[in-house]
Amino acid sequence: MELKVSFWGVRGSKPTPGKSTIQFGGNTSCVQIEAGGKNLIFDAGTGIAELGNKMMMVKGKKEGDIFFSHLHWDHIQGLPFFTPLYCPGNQFRLYGEDKEEIKFQEVINKQMNSPYFPVTMGMMKADYEFMNIKPNQVIDLGEDIIIKTFEVNHPNGCLSYKVEKADSSVVYSTDTEPMKGQRRKDFLEFIRGTDILIYDTHFTDAEYFGTGGYENKIGWGHSTWEEGTRISKEADIGYLILFHHKENRSDKEQREIELSAQKEFKNTIAAKEGMVITIGGEPFEKVVIRNPY
Ligand SMILES: [Zn+2]
Ligand SMILES: [Zn+2]
Repeated sequence: MELKVSFWGVRGSKPTPGKSTIQFGGNTSCVQIEAGGKNLIFDAGTGIAELGNKMMMVKGKKEGDIFFSHLHWDHIQGLPFFTPLYCPGNQFRLYGEDKEEIKFQEVINKQMNSPYFPVTMGMMKADYEFMNIKPNQVIDLGEDIIIKTFEVNHPNGCLSYKVEKADSSVVYSTDTEPMKGQRRKDFLEFIRGTDILIYDTHFTDAEYFGTGGYENKIGWGHSTWEEGTRISKEADIGYLILFHHKENRSDKEQREIELSAQKEFKNTIAAKEGMVITIGGEPFEKVVIRNPY
């Protein structure tokens, strides 16, 4: 197996626990990719807390590279509850983009300052360092793993990531508004031919463009499932994974969206908490998707 992708949080904007969201899950963005013995984590929404609990069940040193797409609450608010960061001997690198007005490290530190949280980052006793990254960067993590970054259109900015190992690849592209002209063309090149595209499908086209009685959501920084299927066809994607589900979208509504999307692009799956995808492992199928139930 070259890449193993696990979904710990698939929801956008805010956590939505409750009966109507139990199938797809209510935790906010967190995706883990295991490759070549490395533990890569994309975003620290509330889903990262349960990932941390699972990591703590295994004895020995915990390590990981945590990549932040951006610093909106739904992508950082799980970090104070990520237990492995509190334990001496563990080792983590936190990757994010510094802005002119504020450094990535400051934002992460500040969310744990008094009175927002009772303990500060100074009480996290693992060995961790902050890594400032930029759009269009290529990061060589060793073990044949390459990470590439691409800046997408979102308020306050946001990075998409592509993880490559041998001939397998995954793109993590959340919080992105459909791009026009040259940037959309560049994005299509960034994702072209990838095995798995995890993509922000927060809205429907009707919600986004404001047809059928909805108020438009242009400028809110999110894409649609219809755009997901369009780019998947245009860029020869293996599987499209609908992600960053709208906060109040019920399981029933989300399943309807998944079925509609499959009619447009057959290899479409809506991300579920607990879903695991392996790439490059099985003898007959390159990509295997296992649902939690
Ligand atoms: Zn978000
Ligand atoms: Zn955002």
